[in-house]
Amino acid sequence: MTETKSLLSHRILVMEESQTIGMAKKARELAAKGIDVINLSFGEPDFPTPLHIREAAKKAIDEGYTFYTPVAGYPDLKKAICAKFSRDNGISFAPENIVVSTGAKQSIANAVLCLVDPGDEVVIIGPYWVSYLEIVKLAEGIPVVVSGKIENSYKPSIKDVEAAISDKTKVVLYSSPSNPTGAVFTKEELEDLADVLIRHPKVIAIADEIYEYINFVGKHESLGAIERVKDRVVTINGLSKGFAMTGWRLGYLGAPKWIADACDKIQGQFTSGTNSITQRAAITALESDLGPSREMTKRFKERRDMVLEKCKSIPGLRNMVPDGAFYLFPEVSSYFGKKSPEGEAISNATDLCMYLLNHAHVSVVPGEAFGAAQCIRISFAAADEKLAEAFDRIQKALEVLH
Ligand code: PMP
Ligand code: GLU
Repeated sequence: MTETKSLLSHRILVMEESQTIGMAKKARELAAKGIDVINLSFGEPDFPTPLHIREAAKKAIDEGYTFYTPVAGYPDLKKAICAKFSRDNGISFAPENIVVSTGAKQSIANAVLCLVDPGDEVVIIGPYWVSYLEIVKLAEGIPVVVSGKIENSYKPSIKDVEAAISDKTKVVLYSSPSNPTGAVFTKEELEDLADVLIRHPKVIAIADEIYEYINFVGKHESLGAIERVKDRVVTINGLSKGFAMTGWRLGYLGAPKWIADACDKIQGQFTSGTNSITQRAAITALESDLGPSREMTKRFKERRDMVLEKCKSIPGLRNMVPDGAFYLFPEVSSYFGKKSPEGEAISNATDLCMYLLNHAHVSVVPGEAFGAAQCIRISFAAADEKLAEAFDRIQKALEVLH
Protein backbone atom coordinates (compact mmCIF):
# COMPACT_ATOMS: atom_id res chain seq x y z
CA MET A 1 0.00 0.00 0.00
CA THR A 2 2.70 2.50 1.02
CA GLU A 3 4.67 1.40 -2.06
CA THR A 4 1.80 2.24 -4.38
CA LYS A 5 1.08 5.57 -2.67
CA SER A 6 4.67 6.62 -3.11
CA LEU A 7 4.12 6.45 -6.87
CA LEU A 8 1.71 9.36 -6.66
CA SER A 9 3.02 12.76 -7.71
CA HIS A 10 4.21 15.28 -5.15
CA ARG A 11 1.56 17.62 -6.50
CA ILE A 12 -1.31 15.39 -5.40
CA LEU A 13 0.31 14.28 -2.16
CA VAL A 14 0.59 17.86 -0.93
CA MET A 15 -2.95 18.75 -2.00
CA GLU A 16 -5.65 18.88 0.69
CA GLU A 17 -9.03 17.34 0.00
CA SER A 18 -11.73 19.99 -0.43
CA GLN A 19 -13.26 20.26 3.06
CA THR A 20 -16.59 21.56 1.77
CA ILE A 21 -16.88 18.40 -0.30
CA GLY A 22 -15.31 16.28 2.50
CA MET A 23 -17.81 17.35 5.17
CA ALA A 24 -20.72 16.90 2.76
CA LYS A 25 -19.41 13.38 2.04
CA LYS A 26 -19.30 12.58 5.78
CA ALA A 27 -22.87 13.85 6.13
CA ARG A 28 -24.01 11.61 3.26
CA GLU A 29 -22.28 8.61 4.84
CA LEU A 30 -24.14 9.14 8.13
CA ALA A 31 -27.40 9.67 6.23
CA ALA A 32 -26.83 6.37 4.37
CA LYS A 33 -26.73 4.68 7.81
CA GLY A 34 -30.24 5.99 8.43
CA ILE A 35 -29.21 8.96 10.61
CA ASP A 36 -31.20 12.15 10.13
CA VAL A 37 -28.33 14.48 9.25
CA ILE A 38 -28.89 18.10 8.29
CA ASN A 39 -26.23 19.05 5.80
CA LEU A 40 -25.25 22.73 6.10
CA SER A 41 -21.73 22.15 4.86
CA PHE A 42 -22.24 22.34 1.12
CA GLY A 43 -22.68 25.69 -0.51
CA GLU A 44 -25.44 25.15 -3.02
CA PRO A 45 -28.90 26.63 -3.47
CA ASP A 46 -31.60 24.17 -2.43
CA PHE A 47 -33.98 25.55 -5.06
CA PRO A 48 -34.56 23.72 -8.34
CA THR A 49 -33.23 25.28 -11.54
CA PRO A 50 -35.98 27.59 -12.94
CA LEU A 51 -38.34 25.79 -15.30
CA HIS A 52 -37.65 27.87 -18.42
CA ILE A 53 -33.94 26.94 -18.18
CA ARG A 54 -34.73 23.24 -17.80
CA GLU A 55 -37.06 23.48 -20.82
CA ALA A 56 -34.26 25.10 -22.87
CA ALA A 57 -32.00 22.13 -22.08
CA LYS A 58 -34.63 19.63 -23.22
CA LYS A 59 -35.09 21.59 -26.43
CA ALA A 60 -31.31 21.59 -26.97
CA ILE A 61 -31.24 17.79 -26.86
CA ASP A 62 -34.15 17.56 -29.30
CA GLU A 63 -32.46 20.05 -31.63
CA GLY A 64 -29.33 17.89 -31.72
CA TYR A 65 -26.87 19.90 -29.62
CA THR A 66 -24.99 16.75 -28.72
CA PHE A 67 -21.60 17.32 -30.33
CA TYR A 68 -18.33 18.81 -29.14
CA THR A 69 -18.56 22.57 -28.91
CA PRO A 70 -15.83 25.14 -29.57
CA VAL A 71 -13.41 24.90 -26.60
CA ALA A 72 -14.22 28.38 -25.26
CA GLY A 73 -17.98 28.00 -25.77
CA TYR A 74 -20.63 28.49 -28.48
CA PRO A 75 -20.30 31.90 -30.16
CA ASP A 76 -23.90 32.89 -29.29
CA LEU A 77 -23.31 31.97 -25.63
CA LYS A 78 -20.18 34.12 -25.56
CA LYS A 79 -22.26 36.97 -27.02
CA ALA A 80 -24.89 36.47 -24.31
CA ILE A 81 -22.15 36.59 -21.66
CA CYS A 82 -20.81 39.85 -23.14
CA ALA A 83 -24.33 41.29 -22.98
CA LYS A 84 -24.61 40.16 -19.34
CA PHE A 85 -21.28 41.77 -18.43
CA SER A 86 -22.41 44.99 -20.06
CA ARG A 87 -25.92 44.94 -18.49
CA ASP A 88 -25.01 43.91 -14.93
CA ASN A 89 -21.40 44.95 -14.47
CA GLY A 90 -20.72 47.82 -16.84
CA ILE A 91 -17.83 45.85 -18.34
CA SER A 92 -17.41 45.91 -22.08
CA PHE A 93 -16.08 42.62 -23.45
CA ALA A 94 -16.01 41.14 -26.96
CA PRO A 95 -16.59 37.39 -27.48
CA GLU A 96 -12.80 36.92 -27.86
CA ASN A 97 -12.46 37.92 -24.18
CA ILE A 98 -14.75 35.14 -22.93
CA VAL A 99 -13.93 31.53 -22.04
CA VAL A 100 -16.73 29.22 -20.87
CA SER A 101 -15.66 26.35 -18.62
CA THR A 102 -16.88 23.42 -16.56
CA GLY A 103 -17.77 25.53 -13.55
CA ALA A 104 -16.22 28.68 -12.15
CA LYS A 105 -13.83 26.35 -10.36
CA GLN A 106 -12.28 25.46 -13.69
CA SER A 107 -12.30 29.11 -14.80
CA ILE A 108 -10.25 30.00 -11.70
CA ALA A 109 -7.90 27.04 -12.23
CA ASN A 110 -7.43 28.00 -15.90
CA ALA A 111 -6.56 31.59 -15.03
CA VAL A 112 -4.17 30.66 -12.20
CA LEU A 113 -2.42 27.96 -14.25
CA CYS A 114 -2.02 30.39 -17.14
CA LEU A 115 -0.59 33.21 -15.02
CA VAL A 116 1.40 31.63 -12.22
CA ASP A 117 4.87 30.12 -12.59
CA PRO A 118 6.59 28.08 -9.87
CA GLY A 119 7.68 30.47 -7.13
CA ASP A 120 5.31 33.28 -8.13
CA GLU A 121 3.26 34.69 -5.27
CA VAL A 122 -0.51 34.98 -5.24
CA VAL A 123 -2.04 37.33 -2.70
CA ILE A 124 -5.28 35.77 -1.51
CA ILE A 125 -7.75 37.87 0.42
CA GLY A 126 -8.89 35.84 3.40
CA PRO A 127 -10.83 34.25 4.86
CA TYR A 128 -10.88 32.70 1.40
CA TRP A 129 -12.77 30.02 -0.49
CA VAL A 130 -11.25 26.56 0.08
CA SER A 131 -10.07 25.80 -3.42
CA TYR A 132 -8.05 28.99 -4.01
CA LEU A 133 -5.12 27.83 -1.94
CA GLU A 134 -4.93 24.37 -3.48
CA ILE A 135 -5.26 25.67 -7.04
CA VAL A 136 -2.37 28.07 -6.41
CA LYS A 137 -0.31 25.21 -4.92
CA LEU A 138 -1.12 23.08 -7.97
CA ALA A 139 0.42 25.82 -10.12
CA GLU A 140 3.44 25.70 -7.76
CA GLY A 141 2.71 29.27 -6.76
CA ILE A 142 3.12 30.58 -3.24
CA PRO A 143 -0.11 31.66 -1.55
CA VAL A 144 0.26 34.82 0.54
CA VAL A 145 -2.90 35.22 2.59
CA VAL A 146 -4.01 38.64 3.85
CA SER A 147 -6.93 38.20 6.18
CA GLY A 148 -9.53 40.59 7.43
CA LYS A 149 -10.85 40.52 10.99
CA ILE A 150 -14.42 40.21 12.16
CA GLU A 151 -14.27 43.80 13.52
CA ASN A 152 -13.70 45.04 9.95
CA SER A 153 -16.34 42.82 8.34
CA TYR A 154 -13.54 40.43 7.42
CA LYS A 155 -12.08 42.87 4.91
CA PRO A 156 -8.33 43.46 5.24
CA SER A 157 -7.19 47.07 4.97
CA ILE A 158 -5.89 48.14 1.59
CA LYS A 159 -2.58 48.95 3.32
CA ASP A 160 -2.24 45.30 4.39
CA VAL A 161 -3.09 44.10 0.89
CA GLU A 162 -0.47 46.38 -0.65
CA ALA A 163 2.12 45.38 1.97
CA ALA A 164 1.67 41.74 0.93
CA ILE A 165 2.64 42.52 -2.67
CA SER A 166 6.28 41.82 -3.52
CA ASP A 167 8.39 41.61 -6.67
CA LYS A 168 7.21 38.04 -7.02
CA THR A 169 3.49 38.78 -6.88
CA LYS A 170 1.66 37.81 -10.03
CA VAL A 171 -1.97 37.72 -8.93
CA VAL A 172 -4.37 39.09 -6.32
CA LEU A 173 -7.33 36.75 -5.85
CA TYR A 174 -10.59 37.37 -3.96
CA SER A 175 -14.31 36.72 -3.96
CA SER A 176 -16.99 39.37 -3.48
CA PRO A 177 -19.57 38.60 -2.19
CA SER A 178 -17.20 36.44 -0.21
CA ASN A 179 -17.40 32.75 0.44
CA PRO A 180 -17.10 32.12 3.41
CA THR A 181 -17.71 35.48 5.14
CA GLY A 182 -20.43 37.14 3.05
CA ALA A 183 -18.39 40.36 2.93
CA VAL A 184 -19.13 42.54 -0.09
CA PHE A 185 -16.60 45.04 -1.42
CA THR A 186 -17.91 48.55 -2.01
CA LYS A 187 -17.09 50.69 -5.02
CA GLU A 188 -14.70 52.77 -2.86
CA GLU A 189 -12.83 49.67 -1.67
CA LEU A 190 -12.47 48.45 -5.26
CA GLU A 191 -11.24 51.90 -6.32
CA ASP A 192 -8.54 51.57 -3.63
CA LEU A 193 -7.63 48.12 -4.96
CA ALA A 194 -7.47 49.58 -8.47
CA ASP A 195 -5.00 52.19 -7.19
CA VAL A 196 -2.85 49.38 -5.77
CA LEU A 197 -2.88 47.65 -9.17
CA ILE A 198 -1.82 50.88 -10.84
CA ARG A 199 1.14 51.11 -8.44
CA HIS A 200 2.07 47.48 -9.21
CA PRO A 201 1.84 47.15 -12.98
CA LYS A 202 2.79 43.47 -13.16
CA VAL A 203 -0.04 42.24 -10.93
CA ILE A 204 -3.27 40.80 -12.35
CA ALA A 205 -6.45 40.63 -10.25
CA ILE A 206 -8.77 37.64 -10.36
CA ALA A 207 -12.20 38.76 -9.13
CA ASP A 208 -14.51 35.87 -8.32
CA GLU A 209 -18.05 37.24 -8.59
CA ILE A 210 -19.97 33.96 -8.54
CA TYR A 211 -22.26 35.21 -5.71
CA GLU A 212 -23.00 38.46 -7.56
CA TYR A 213 -26.79 38.07 -7.48
CA ILE A 214 -26.85 36.89 -3.85
CA ASN A 215 -26.28 40.36 -2.50
CA PHE A 216 -28.42 41.78 0.32
CA VAL A 217 -27.07 45.32 0.35
CA GLY A 218 -27.81 46.63 -3.08
CA LYS A 219 -25.69 46.97 -6.14
CA HIS A 220 -22.88 44.58 -6.94
CA GLU A 221 -19.64 46.32 -7.90
CA SER A 222 -16.99 44.91 -10.23
CA LEU A 223 -13.29 45.72 -10.22
CA GLY A 224 -13.24 45.06 -13.98
CA ALA A 225 -15.60 47.99 -14.52
CA ILE A 226 -12.93 50.45 -13.34
CA GLU A 227 -11.56 51.85 -16.57
CA ARG A 228 -7.95 52.38 -15.47
CA VAL A 229 -7.46 48.69 -14.57
CA LYS A 230 -9.86 46.93 -16.91
CA ASP A 231 -6.96 45.37 -18.84
CA ARG A 232 -5.59 43.84 -15.66
CA VAL A 233 -8.67 42.08 -14.30
CA VAL A 234 -10.01 38.57 -14.87
CA THR A 235 -13.68 38.47 -13.87
CA ILE A 236 -15.01 35.05 -12.88
CA ASN A 237 -18.69 34.18 -12.80
CA GLY A 238 -21.00 31.24 -13.45
CA LEU A 239 -24.49 29.86 -13.23
CA SER A 240 -24.16 27.61 -10.17
CA LYS A 241 -25.28 30.03 -7.48
CA GLY A 242 -27.33 32.77 -9.15
CA PHE A 243 -29.42 30.39 -11.25
CA ALA A 244 -29.38 27.34 -8.93
CA MET A 245 -27.46 25.28 -11.51
CA THR A 246 -24.65 23.67 -9.51
CA GLY A 247 -24.89 20.28 -11.19
CA TRP A 248 -24.98 21.68 -14.72
CA ARG A 249 -21.34 22.79 -14.51
CA LEU A 250 -20.96 26.10 -16.25
CA GLY A 251 -18.65 28.93 -15.29
CA TYR A 252 -16.99 31.60 -17.36
CA LEU A 253 -14.40 34.32 -17.28
CA GLY A 254 -13.99 37.63 -19.01
CA ALA A 255 -10.37 38.68 -19.41
CA PRO A 256 -7.90 40.54 -21.62
CA LYS A 257 -7.54 38.60 -24.89
CA TRP A 258 -4.02 37.34 -24.10
CA ILE A 259 -5.31 35.67 -20.93
CA ALA A 260 -8.50 34.37 -22.57
CA ASP A 261 -6.41 32.85 -25.40
CA ALA A 262 -4.18 31.12 -22.86
CA CYS A 263 -7.20 29.74 -20.99
CA ASP A 264 -8.67 28.47 -24.27
CA LYS A 265 -5.34 26.72 -24.96
CA ILE A 266 -5.07 25.01 -21.58
CA GLN A 267 -8.73 23.97 -21.60
CA GLY A 268 -8.24 22.52 -25.09
CA GLN A 269 -5.73 20.10 -23.59
CA PHE A 270 -7.67 19.29 -20.42
CA THR A 271 -11.42 19.13 -20.88
CA SER A 272 -12.48 20.83 -24.15
CA GLY A 273 -15.72 22.82 -24.15
CA THR A 274 -18.20 22.25 -21.36
CA ASN A 275 -21.44 20.34 -21.80
CA SER A 276 -23.25 21.37 -25.01
CA ILE A 277 -26.74 21.12 -23.49
CA THR A 278 -25.78 23.22 -20.48
CA GLN A 279 -24.36 25.85 -22.81
CA ARG A 280 -27.63 26.12 -24.73
CA ALA A 281 -29.60 26.38 -21.47
CA ALA A 282 -27.14 29.03 -20.26
CA ILE A 283 -28.11 31.32 -23.14
CA THR A 284 -31.71 31.18 -21.97
CA ALA A 285 -30.66 31.75 -18.33
CA LEU A 286 -28.56 34.78 -19.16
CA GLU A 287 -30.97 36.36 -21.64
CA SER A 288 -34.18 35.97 -19.70
CA ASP A 289 -35.68 37.97 -16.88
CA LEU A 290 -33.77 37.70 -13.60
CA GLY A 291 -36.99 37.38 -11.59
CA PRO A 292 -36.32 33.83 -10.33
CA SER A 293 -32.77 34.79 -9.26
CA ARG A 294 -34.07 37.88 -7.44
CA GLU A 295 -36.76 35.79 -5.74
CA MET A 296 -34.14 33.26 -4.54
CA THR A 297 -32.03 36.09 -3.13
CA LYS A 298 -35.05 37.43 -1.28
CA ARG A 299 -35.53 34.01 0.30
CA PHE A 300 -31.82 33.78 1.21
CA LYS A 301 -32.07 37.16 2.92
CA GLU A 302 -35.08 36.02 4.95
CA ARG A 303 -33.18 32.92 5.96
CA ARG A 304 -30.11 34.95 6.87
CA ASP A 305 -32.25 37.08 9.17
CA MET A 306 -33.89 33.99 10.63
CA VAL A 307 -30.60 32.22 11.42
CA LEU A 308 -29.03 35.39 12.84
CA GLU A 309 -32.04 35.67 15.15
CA LYS A 310 -31.59 32.03 16.20
CA CYS A 311 -27.91 32.73 16.90
CA LYS A 312 -28.85 35.35 19.47
CA SER A 313 -29.69 32.55 21.89
CA ILE A 314 -26.26 30.92 21.34
CA PRO A 315 -23.91 33.35 23.08
CA GLY A 316 -20.73 31.44 22.15
CA LEU A 317 -21.17 32.22 18.44
CA ARG A 318 -19.80 35.61 17.40
CA ASN A 319 -21.27 36.59 14.05
CA MET A 320 -20.79 39.21 11.43
CA VAL A 321 -23.94 40.02 9.44
CA PRO A 322 -23.21 38.67 5.93
CA ASP A 323 -24.05 41.16 3.17
CA GLY A 324 -24.08 38.46 0.49
CA ALA A 325 -23.67 34.75 -0.36
CA PHE A 326 -25.41 32.20 1.91
CA TYR A 327 -23.10 31.46 4.82
CA LEU A 328 -22.74 32.39 8.46
CA PHE A 329 -19.12 32.34 9.55
CA PRO A 330 -19.20 32.61 13.34
CA GLU A 331 -16.16 32.74 15.55
CA VAL A 332 -16.40 29.77 17.89
CA SER A 333 -13.15 29.98 19.84
CA SER A 334 -15.05 30.40 23.14
CA TYR A 335 -15.73 26.64 22.93
CA PHE A 336 -12.08 25.68 22.50
CA GLY A 337 -10.69 23.96 25.60
CA LYS A 338 -14.12 22.59 26.58
CA LYS A 339 -15.25 18.97 26.74
CA SER A 340 -18.34 17.12 25.59
CA PRO A 341 -20.47 15.24 28.15
CA GLU A 342 -18.65 12.09 26.97
CA GLY A 343 -15.31 13.71 27.74
CA GLU A 344 -14.16 14.44 24.17
CA ALA A 345 -11.89 17.47 24.03
CA ILE A 346 -12.81 20.33 21.71
CA SER A 347 -9.45 21.88 20.87
CA ASN A 348 -10.20 23.52 17.55
CA ALA A 349 -12.85 24.19 14.90
CA THR A 350 -12.39 20.76 13.31
CA ASP A 351 -13.10 19.07 16.68
CA LEU A 352 -16.17 21.25 17.08
CA CYS A 353 -17.45 20.38 13.59
CA MET A 354 -16.95 16.66 14.22
CA TYR A 355 -18.74 17.01 17.56
CA LEU A 356 -21.67 18.81 15.89
CA LEU A 357 -21.79 16.18 13.15
CA ASN A 358 -21.70 13.20 15.49
CA HIS A 359 -23.84 14.58 18.32
CA ALA A 360 -26.18 17.13 16.76
CA HIS A 361 -26.16 15.47 13.33
CA VAL A 362 -25.57 18.81 11.68
CA SER A 363 -22.76 19.08 9.17
CA VAL A 364 -20.81 22.36 8.95
CA VAL A 365 -17.26 23.17 7.78
CA PRO A 366 -14.25 24.03 9.99
CA GLY A 367 -12.80 27.49 9.45
CA GLU A 368 -9.30 26.04 8.97
CA ALA A 369 -10.39 25.22 5.40
CA PHE A 370 -10.88 28.94 4.75
CA GLY A 371 -7.80 30.18 6.60
CA ALA A 372 -9.74 31.14 9.76
CA ALA A 373 -9.05 28.57 12.47
CA GLN A 374 -11.34 30.27 15.00
CA CYS A 375 -14.48 29.99 12.84
CA ILE A 376 -16.94 27.49 11.40
CA ARG A 377 -18.98 27.92 8.22
CA ILE A 378 -22.70 27.26 8.30
CA SER A 379 -24.60 27.37 5.00
CA PHE A 380 -28.11 28.79 5.20
CA ALA A 381 -29.01 27.53 1.73
CA ALA A 382 -31.49 25.03 3.15
CA ALA A 383 -35.25 24.89 3.77
CA ASP A 384 -36.54 27.07 6.65
CA GLU A 385 -37.71 24.09 8.75
CA LYS A 386 -34.35 22.37 8.32
CA LEU A 387 -32.50 25.52 9.34
CA ALA A 388 -34.69 26.01 12.40
CA GLU A 389 -34.19 22.39 13.45
CA ALA A 390 -30.43 22.54 12.77
CA PHE A 391 -29.96 25.66 14.90
CA ASP A 392 -31.99 24.14 17.75
CA ARG A 393 -29.75 21.08 17.60
CA ILE A 394 -26.58 23.19 17.46
CA GLN A 395 -27.75 25.23 20.45
CA LYS A 396 -28.48 22.13 22.54
CA ALA A 397 -25.17 20.48 21.62
CA LEU A 398 -23.15 23.62 22.43
CA GLU A 399 -24.97 24.21 25.71
CA VAL A 400 -23.71 20.94 27.19
CA LEU A 401 -20.03 21.61 26.47
CA HIS A 402 -18.22 22.37 29.70
N1 PMP B 1 -15.95 30.41 -6.28
C1 PMP B 1 -16.57 30.40 -5.09
C2 PMP B 1 -16.31 31.51 -4.14
C3 PMP B 1 -17.47 29.37 -4.76
O1 PMP B 1 -18.09 29.35 -3.59
C4 PMP B 1 -17.70 28.34 -5.69
C5 PMP B 1 -18.67 27.26 -5.29
N2 PMP B 1 -18.44 26.05 -5.69
C6 PMP B 1 -17.01 28.39 -6.91
C7 PMP B 1 -16.15 29.43 -7.17
C8 PMP B 1 -17.14 27.33 -7.96
O2 PMP B 1 -18.41 27.24 -8.50
P1 PMP B 1 -18.76 26.31 -9.72
O3 PMP B 1 -17.54 25.53 -10.09
O4 PMP B 1 -19.88 25.44 -9.26
O5 PMP B 1 -19.18 27.22 -10.82
N1 GLU C 1 -18.66 26.37 -3.42
C1 GLU C 1 -19.41 25.50 -2.62
C2 GLU C 1 -18.91 25.55 -1.20
O1 GLU C 1 -18.05 26.34 -0.89
C3 GLU C 1 -19.54 24.11 -3.18
C4 GLU C 1 -18.48 23.12 -2.83
C5 GLU C 1 -17.22 23.31 -3.61
O2 GLU C 1 -17.30 23.46 -4.82
O3 GLU C 1 -16.19 23.29 -2.96
O4 GLU C 1 -19.41 24.82 -0.40
